[in-house]
Amino acid sequence: MTRNYLDNSRAALKESMDYHLRCSLCRETPSKDYRDHFLATAFSLRDRMTEKILQTERRYQEAGAKRVYYLSMEFLIGRLLGDSLYNLGLFDLCRDVLSEAGIDIDEVREQENDAGLGNGGLGRLAACFLDSMATLDIPGFGYGIHYEYGLFKQEVDNGYQKEKPDNWLAEFSPWEIKRPDEKCIVPIYGRIEHFQDRAGEYNPMWLDWKVIMGIPFDIPVVGYGGKTVNWLRLYGAGSSTDFDIQIFNEGDYFRAVEQKVSSETITKMLYPRDTLKSGKELRLVQEYFLVACSLRDIVRRYLKDHGDFDRFSDSVAIQMNDTHPSLAVAELMRLLVDEYALPWDSAWEITQRTMAYTNHTILSEALEKWPVSLLERVIPRHLQIIYEINSRFLATVASLHPSDIDLIRRMSLIEEGENKQVRMAHLAMVGSHSINGVSALHTEILMKNNFSDFHALWPERFVSITNGITQRRWLLKSNPQLAGLISEKIGDSWITDLAQLKRLESCADDPDFQDRFRGIKRANKEALSRIISRTAWVSVNPDSLFDVHVKRIHEYKRQLLKIMHIIYEYLQIVRGEKTPTVAKTYIFGGKAAPGYWVAKQIIKLIHNVGQVINSDKRLQDIMKVVFLPDYRVSLAEKIIPAADLSEQISMAGTEASGTGNMKFMLNGALTVGTLDGANVEMLQESGEDNIFIFGLKAGEIEEMQRANTYRPTEYYRSYPEIRIVVDTFRDNVFCPSEPGLFQWIYSRFMHEEDTYFHLPDLLEYIRIQEKIEEEYRDTASWTKKAIFNVTRSGKFSSDRAISEYAGLIWKVEAVK
Ligand SMILES: *Cc1c(COP(=O)(O)O)cnc(C)c1O
Repeated sequence: MTRNYLDNSRAALKESMDYHLRCSLCRETPSKDYRDHFLATAFSLRDRMTEKILQTERRYQEAGAKRVYYLSMEFLIGRLLGDSLYNLGLFDLCRDVLSEAGIDIDEVREQENDAGLGNGGLGRLAACFLDSMATLDIPGFGYGIHYEYGLFKQEVDNGYQKEKPDNWLAEFSPWEIKRPDEKCIVPIYGRIEHFQDRAGEYNPMWLDWKVIMGIPFDIPVVGYGGKTVNWLRLYGAGSSTDFDIQIFNEGDYFRAVEQKVSSETITKMLYPRDTLKSGKELRLVQEYFLVACSLRDIVRRYLKDHGDFDRFSDSVAIQMNDTHPSLAVAELMRLLVDEYALPWDSAWEITQRTMAYTNHTILSEALEKWPVSLLERVIPRHLQIIYEINSRFLATVASLHPSDIDLIRRMSLIEEGENKQVRMAHLAMVGSHSINGVSALHTEILMKNNFSDFHALWPERFVSITNGITQRRWLLKSNPQLAGLISEKIGDSWITDLAQLKRLESCADDPDFQDRFRGIKRANKEALSRIISRTAWVSVNPDSLFDVHVKRIHEYKRQLLKIMHIIYEYLQIVRGEKTPTVAKTYIFGGKAAPGYWVAKQIIKLIHNVGQVINSDKRLQDIMKVVFLPDYRVSLAEKIIPAADLSEQISMAGTEASGTGNMKFMLNGALTVGTLDGANVEMLQESGEDNIFIFGLKAGEIEEMQRANTYRPTEYYRSYPEIRIVVDTFRDNVFCPSEPGLFQWIYSRFMHEEDTYFHLPDLLEYIRIQEKIEEEYRDTASWTKKAIFNVTRSGKFSSDRAISEYAGLIWKVEAVK
């Protein structure tokens, strides 16, 4: 290869792709195999990115820059080829080089497996944040787990979800760089001996621990423009050879191998539960493993340039994505006190100044607590440290409120009772200088309800930072035609400054612009229709209104409310009580946690309602209901640009922010939603004429819950619209061959059980859907509203979110 093999010329790109075909993949050139071309292209880009990682690192070094480490159990990355091409500015060139060889770049891109190392919103947020940090030239790095199996693949068999393992590394990932030389050693299990040092001070020793090896895999993260390339470091668990040899020498070869296998199990798979805690020992071990590996690496990097810890919190900021990495508080204390012999008080000051915590949910079933007895067995020294943190913390609380025993009980890191538990959110809050919610409403609820005691004690620690999404993936790459139209009108500065979209507003009324905007939506709907017929075996009309509800299946997200509206509309039409004026395609997608029976039943219900409606001759070309299997990032990128209507209908007060809502808005769908999470801010930004808001407000629901005044049967009795829908579950309308299948839904309502307030919102939801149908018929007006959704979505860029984290919490600056 030539000396300039890494430059961005056509010749160099072609040369490196051919080189990798022959030398990395051992293939004859020219090759006609798409997979070969995917790998060769990816390797060629990786070469360019690794070179830039080194340059970026030199720049950070020279600036003596403060660094941010984003700790997250999940990074829902999706595919990387398209993004890397756009961010490096090599898309057109690469497309041409491939097409000269007779290869279609889109086919090549379809070869890539999604890196599905996350469940949903929380993991996708982490991935968007990495893109924004690199684009904003912020020294920000991700730390996560190198799961061998990502989130399961979903198949739907007769309406029932089947989980298949996601062996995403089967054909290996060309992006990651394994670095066994930077492995670290993590102690686990064992016991504490209570010693005294020479001065007679208490000096506990953690003994007889086992060892896990943490092996790093680095994935380059290239910012838009290709100047800054940061990285995401994922740790995989291996066994320590030293340790194995110990057993091996005892003559027990089989036990040595078993030991090795059990260590490697730690990072086998991602726990597939979204907003639900798992409670499994292996999950706790995973959380500890992430924290232990990350902090060793962070401290090692810091100590390369510093002789002591005086400047640690000026050089390092650590963000904990939810409580999953909150053991970082205890682990940093352990490192500083036990391994670097700092006095407790200085160690504590450093820890608090370094750590920050993001809360993602107020659902009680998701608030992590771990049994004290489990911690005692798995990480005994950390439990001791947590107790020490707690006793000092509670002493402070007691000194401020001497006789308030109840307050102390509520704020303690330990929940007392028969089975004592550690409250991970309390550990995270006490150990951090910043606690943030992810939308204005969510932060308000945190301060007022869940964490009100902590807010009263430390009001200055609470911040609200509304989530965001990266427009590079969610518009530039996923909707290239719309991106092109926008750039043609206002230039391409929106790619790094989404607020620029405002400048498009003058086009909103222009009939020519509207035509082109609609033409693009129509083309996206055609493309999605082809995917629907291929994967859900339903043929849909691309001229119908695409009404889309895609996200994890969860009761609080209320897919059941959407289905109840569809059932209502169906009954109205077949009973001749409604003349449909707009053809509609209802599109669902989302995975249910494998053990979540209700969520799986809801998938079955969607499927069955679809079967009845799609095969009813009276509704041909009027209504279709489809469930797209295996909702994931790469599928979302195809669904969202084709949506007319975005369903964001969670029970108010339960969806912390939502980010799916933002992706739809950016792609010109109108939202129908409750006043929940970031919907509240979307209403403020878009204006009330451009969004459909309905339903009870968070405060109203809270009041009904507090006073215990909600009776589902009263709604059932009072409203025939509700009654006819609920009765279909009793009368087996959607399960004629499996009577009783959906009886549970009917029974719940009859037993006054409706935790997520479906019935009180159903009437208003039906009414607003009628309004939506009416408005959709006025094509010009609808298009104008859709355009306003695009132009007013600037706030929801993850660039804005990251700038706020950088300024308010991390105190880091861009290194240009
Ligand atoms: C954005 C995204 C989510 C989060 O969607 P919400 O509607 O905010 O719950 C979940 N899964 C995937 C694949 C996504 O891209």
